[in-house]
Amino acid sequence: MSESQSNPQQNGQTYQTWQVSEQDGQYRGREITLNTADLPAGDVLIRVSHSSLNYKDALSASGNKGVTRHFPHTPGIDAAGEVVELTVDAPAGVLGVGSQVLVTGYDLGMNSAGGFGEYIRVPAAWCIAMPEGWTAKTAMTYGTAGLTAGLCVHKLLIMGAAPGQGKVAVSGASGAVGSVAVEILSVLGFDVVAISGKAEQEDTLRTLGAAEILGRDALEAQKKPMLKPAFANAVDTVGGAPLAELLKQVQPGGSVSCCGLVAGIELPTTVLPFILRGVNLLGVDSVEIPLADKQAIWNKLVGPWGCPQTEKSAKVIGRSGLANALEAFLAGKSSGKIVLEHG
Ligand code: NDP
Repeated sequence: MSESQSNPQQNGQTYQTWQVSEQDGQYRGREITLNTADLPAGDVLIRVSHSSLNYKDALSASGNKGVTRHFPHTPGIDAAGEVVELTVDAPAGVLGVGSQVLVTGYDLGMNSAGGFGEYIRVPAAWCIAMPEGWTAKTAMTYGTAGLTAGLCVHKLLIMGAAPGQGKVAVSGASGAVGSVAVEILSVLGFDVVAISGKAEQEDTLRTLGAAEILGRDALEAQKKPMLKPAFANAVDTVGGAPLAELLKQVQPGGSVSCCGLVAGIELPTTVLPFILRGVNLLGVDSVEIPLADKQAIWNKLVGPWGCPQTEKSAKVIGRSGLANALEAFLAGKSSGKIVLEHG
């Protein structure tokens, strides 16, 4: 191990962060000043220029103990910025003081101070070198949501999904994960059906490449245990009863990538889609998977799976916009990708 390049306990500096604290059972976020010396121990101190908003951040900010056990806490499961201190040897070219990196998932923003603050200190094993040609803002335009959308598509491809087999449904299509999934699938030439509860997002979804838009009623609970096959494959970002309805409508041999829970964690299904049509339910985790698996998806997103519309249309907010934006996630009213820009 190389000599520590600095001692954060001696060289701490103040920074701004959006911290959530609990008072009388209510959770409220506000901007405060902290010192880097107060950040948890770790290998890499990063000056965060951008973060990205995710449903999980909204859960953390609202006091959900399944995400964050202890408050006060700075959420932000995504972060991108510049390495300012490094206390471990790092593979050449991957990390170095002054290099740009991105971090998604693991414990960032859950029980470790996250990207809604101007600095984070994390293990080197969580960091990925900024892909060539990307800025921190581009990386955070995708963030965990983009990574998850990429993983959902990747799993479908592994199972043999290909354009020309039929329509591919995306539920929660206007959301952060759903909107990127719509665009990746469209870029790859799939016939994408966006399922969305937001009629006003129709034009945006068509711009992202959706060929058809259906309301959430397409996945309304029905008594029949099986329905006419409507989709070759699907990406489900909502879970719950809508996922069960989706499974009933997938054609023989098709697959559904499942990553979300906004409509509930219960899955009220029967075994029939699996044993009568050979439908595959594919679990997707973007948080704890090995860094190399994340890297493989970033490589796709920086290359052939790049989403120009998502990059162009992402909303950029400052810390003062966090409270409202996170509330919209919990109400199911958020749409598209939202980037937090510090500074
Ligand atoms: P968003 O809130 O941006 O998107 C969710 C979308 O689902 C909403 O925009 C809305 O889209 C739809 N929706 C919301 N509430 C309901 C409801 N009650 N019933 C049906 N549809 C609903 O969240 P994200 O895209 O950031 O995350 C989506 C899900 O994926 C979350 O559960 C999140 O925790 C999970 N996730 C999981 C990851 C993993 O690693 N497995 C990583 C990242 C996210 P519309 O109005 O268009 O229908």
